[in-house]
Amino acid sequence: MFSVGFRSKLVGCINLQYKFVKHFSNERFSKLSKSRKGPSDDANFLKELEVLSKSRDWRNVLDLVKNQGLKCNRSSVQVFNNLTAQAFWDADTALGWEMLNKINREDFQPNCETFQAYLDYCSMDRATFVENLEKMLEFIGKNDVIVSKTVIKTLNHKIKKFGGSAVRTELSNIGICQNCEHQMPSLLQSLLEFETLKREFEQLILKPRIPSVQLGLFRQIVNKKQSYDYVIDSLNVTRNFPDSKGNIFKQGKLLTQIVEQLRMQNKKVLIVGKKHVETWPESAVNFIRKNTTVFLSNHKEAVDDVFMMYGALVSGPNAHFVTNDMLTDHMQELSDNGKKLFKNWQKQHQHFISYDYKTDSTHIYSPKKFHHNARKTEDSKQWHIPYTEKPLLYSPKGLIRRVPVEWACVKFKNRSQNELF
Ligand SMILES: [Zn+2]
Repeated sequence: MFSVGFRSKLVGCINLQYKFVKHFSNERFSKLSKSRKGPSDDANFLKELEVLSKSRDWRNVLDLVKNQGLKCNRSSVQVFNNLTAQAFWDADTALGWEMLNKINREDFQPNCETFQAYLDYCSMDRATFVENLEKMLEFIGKNDVIVSKTVIKTLNHKIKKFGGSAVRTELSNIGICQNCEHQMPSLLQSLLEFETLKREFEQLILKPRIPSVQLGLFRQIVNKKQSYDYVIDSLNVTRNFPDSKGNIFKQGKLLTQIVEQLRMQNKKVLIVGKKHVETWPESAVNFIRKNTTVFLSNHKEAVDDVFMMYGALVSGPNAHFVTNDMLTDHMQELSDNGKKLFKNWQKQHQHFISYDYKTDSTHIYSPKKFHHNARKTEDSKQWHIPYTEKPLLYSPKGLIRRVPVEWACVKFKNRSQNELF
């Protein structure tokens, strides 16, 4: 579709932080390919690939990646990002999307350059600009990708050429855009969906991991109060911070602060953990026992999060749980439908904890009640796109937590007076 001249035209307008480096000989690729003896050579090999994937010979790198069966992981993700950007700058969109999907499948976020390269590609053709841009927005929305401010700035720059705009906006607690007053749809889960999830959780996650004796003991505790408002994975939320590891005083204090906040709101709280919670200072243990129900397992494996999720599920569709773990390993055990139901439940009920060293206090992050991924309005005239100041390597999978998220209200026509980017 595009002539050979496309690339040179495109390269002229790309962000020049992404420079092409000199041409590399075929011998160098051949040597590189043979030099890798095994995983122990990976660091140097990947370093070289990272440089070469920014060169004009990036397709040779692509061949190497394919021939060596290189997987996208933390060490190699930059190579995959570079190749994706190169593919878009070369107008090879099929390859670009294939690479983007590979990055996404491994739960990484494509970096700024890949999206900037794609936006460069989109802006080359007025007739297909909106259609192509929406393909990217649908991708980030569907996969809960949160792009950086740099990408939104580039998007605004491109969209302006065609009479649209990207305006910085704020969303209220219930998801109303302060710029256009559109309300983001609420997150909902029907009782039937909730019961389906609970049943699948019991069959595929709970029963294979927890012996029936332990489960019997847990059920006695859970049934005692019928239901809880909050279930907390005590070890996860108290060991997440650098100076709390191995510090039983700090751990006891963190959990006390969390419990204090929830009890002030009159919430019924269940704590799950292991026996060593009892080694915390007596004052903390007494306070926690007085104000919550505590279940301490002697299970050797790390199954506290399974108890936590089960405690929340048996407490009903209004119960919440508190952990900073994304629980992805457990989710993998579920069917495709179960995964979808789990994610939706998690988005609505998981609370995260942060600790502020300056004020020596903990903060509980409540989940948002509305969809907070990139979405098109029902009348298809606008998009609302979440973004972060700095790029994220991993996708927070729709769970806006300690990462401060801002919003852009994007229109394709009628440029707004409030444009801020
Ligand atoms: Zn808006």
